[in-house]
Amino acid sequence: MDHFVYRDGRLCAEDVSLIRIAEETGTPFYCYSQATIERHYRVFADAFADVDATVCYAVKANSNIAVIGVLARLGAGADVVSGGELKRALTAGIPASRIVFSGIGKTGEELAAALDAGILQINVESEPELELLGQVAADKGVSAPVAIRINPGIDALTHDKIATGKAENKFGIEWTRAHRVYCRAMTMPGIDIVGIAVHIGSQVTDLEPFREAYVRTRDLAALLRADGIAIRRLDLGGGLGIPYGDEPAPSPGEYAAVVKSAIGDLDCHLILEPGRVIAGNAGILVTSVLYVKEGATRRFVVVDAAMNDLMRPALYNAFHGIATVMETPAKTECKEVDVVGPICETGDTFATGRPLPPLKAGDLLAIRAAGAYGAVMSSVYNTRPLVPEVLVRGGDFALVRERLSVDDMLSREVIPNWLKT
Ligand SMILES: *Cc1c(COP(=O)(O)O)cnc(C)c1O
Repeated sequence: MDHFVYRDGRLCAEDVSLIRIAEETGTPFYCYSQATIERHYRVFADAFADVDATVCYAVKANSNIAVIGVLARLGAGADVVSGGELKRALTAGIPASRIVFSGIGKTGEELAAALDAGILQINVESEPELELLGQVAADKGVSAPVAIRINPGIDALTHDKIATGKAENKFGIEWTRAHRVYCRAMTMPGIDIVGIAVHIGSQVTDLEPFREAYVRTRDLAALLRADGIAIRRLDLGGGLGIPYGDEPAPSPGEYAAVVKSAIGDLDCHLILEPGRVIAGNAGILVTSVLYVKEGATRRFVVVDAAMNDLMRPALYNAFHGIATVMETPAKTECKEVDVVGPICETGDTFATGRPLPPLKAGDLLAIRAAGAYGAVMSSVYNTRPLVPEVLVRGGDFALVRERLSVDDMLSREVIPNWLKT
């Protein structure tokens, strides 16, 4: 459910017409609905209200500080994967005591920053990282709260590029080796073992892989406890998928039921790290039609947004719904078109053979479910400046990231002296 609906024939974000925003900011732009973000967070958090759990929003899905700020006000924690995201979460008002730090390549500086901030937990993904963290913490005379991320050897049945729990994936420590690593960690003065972390992938729409991974995590926790290792917390990662088209996706309630039955009565504090399910359907990318071009065999609708603004179709062959901002009158005949961007790559295609009503230059389109892994993955390929982000709340809207200018980009580049003569 989202708050992008037609009113008087125009697509609106909550109570604001997208045409009005387009007039003010130009296109393309990302638009987020605060009510939708809040609703998704509440539905997810409510599903875990009867257990001891902290919902740590996975900042990488949409890291605009206004979006994080909306969630901070609802009491969310944050899952961060870089020093930059740590700074964003703190800047947006998430208390350090609700921040967990994940990722396989944290630098010594990032680990030090996390310890200085006093965050809740650092998820360690390898033995060398454990050694480095132990050293950094011991040098500071502190003890790092650590969960070891295990790789449960489970296929999340999602796109290959976002599956993270298979044995051949780069993430975590193979679960059969975990026991040895925990025993080593217990001897290290800079390390305070608090729990186990697991995250099997993203856009997971089958609950069975979650169940298997969580049962494995529970069994490991029981084994470690039997050896006197005080496992107090289980970080179950994120990954719950969302519908991008008409396909079904499990609800947070169904997911929570799987978590509770798999974990059983271990009496652990749970951490959940949803990203996409909070932000995905809370955002759209609004773009203008530049040209309608008749190809030899196909009709192309060339729009002003491109793969650099929204990479998911090019990167994952992802499907995104596309809606006209002016509501299409009933009985309008739709024709199949390819919706493409201006970038010089054939992969710069948002949709192929998509039935859309007749379009002309200047018409606005909304690419749906673009709130997660949209703006955050954008690049400046083809010297296309990063597009603005707008947050809507009721009848108000605010520019929460300005459009970059080409001059901003060029000001970071330098012609060396030897090329100046
Ligand atoms: C990416 C990621 C998440 C969030 O995944 P979603 O699919 O957006 O819910 C959570 N935890 C970790 C460790 C991640 O890498």
